[in-house]
Amino acid sequence: MTTMVRRTLSKEVHIEGIGLHRGGRALVRICPGNQGIVFVKKGVRVPATPENVVDTRLSTTIGLGGVSVSTIEHLMSCLWGLKITDCEVVIEGEEIPVLDGSAWPFFTRLQDAGTMDLSGEVTPVRIRDAIHLEEGGSSIEAGPGPFRITYEIDFPSRAIGRQRLSFGGADYGEEISKARTFGMLRDVEKMRSAGLALGGSLENAVVVDDEKVINPEGFRFPDECIRHKILDLLGDLWTLGVPIEGDIRAYKASHRLHIALAHEIRKAYFLEGGNRS
Ligand SMILES: [Zn+2]
Repeated sequence: MTTMVRRTLSKEVHIEGIGLHRGGRALVRICPGNQGIVFVKKGVRVPATPENVVDTRLSTTIGLGGVSVSTIEHLMSCLWGLKITDCEVVIEGEEIPVLDGSAWPFFTRLQDAGTMDLSGEVTPVRIRDAIHLEEGGSSIEAGPGPFRITYEIDFPSRAIGRQRLSFGGADYGEEISKARTFGMLRDVEKMRSAGLALGGSLENAVVVDDEKVINPEGFRFPDECIRHKILDLLGDLWTLGVPIEGDIRAYKASHRLHIALAHEIRKAYFLEGGNRS
């Protein structure tokens, strides 16, 4: 099993935009660090671990000591893409900026800033025995084998339909990071009337109404939705802090199942604080 060198950023990066939920200005400072991936809000440090996930309904939210940080998954996914194991993400305000609804703006900014190797290493977790989780008509599993994610979704909307994609880890920036969040028009309307996703717009999500895409530019890839599901899963599993050597399969899964799998892997392989001692 090849170990991976711990890695952080070479310098601090500021990223600004609007927050998805409240719609206000959102700014994060992503700083070099050496204590795993830690979000900092109102002076409280919240390590990005499965144990600190407090909500998985619309996005992945972590919380500790009275503060919570929502929608960490796209930034976490970009950190996976750059193999960054250590950094501090300081939230100036309430939320992480939603940007264009993908991980691409984070990816390019952090890639431009450059990364720096730290002295320690992380050992990937090698899946030996299959783990299988199911909920309603959804499932997720991890089995032995080299790293691979195979994801499948099946939406009644004809613009999305059934999509399946296998990703073995190559060219995350081009293949995965650009895929945007997507949603159904009726769900967007429901969320809006419930006071949620106030910052959501066609600037930061693909909105679909049965057979048509509302965004004038259409999809970035014909199968952009499944690519985004893989983006989310990579981000959710990066809360483990170590790469997974395993064959991961997800069917119509959600943040809730992604994080449940992270918990099961952590329990089965006795990962301590995501190797962040
Ligand atoms: Zn997402």
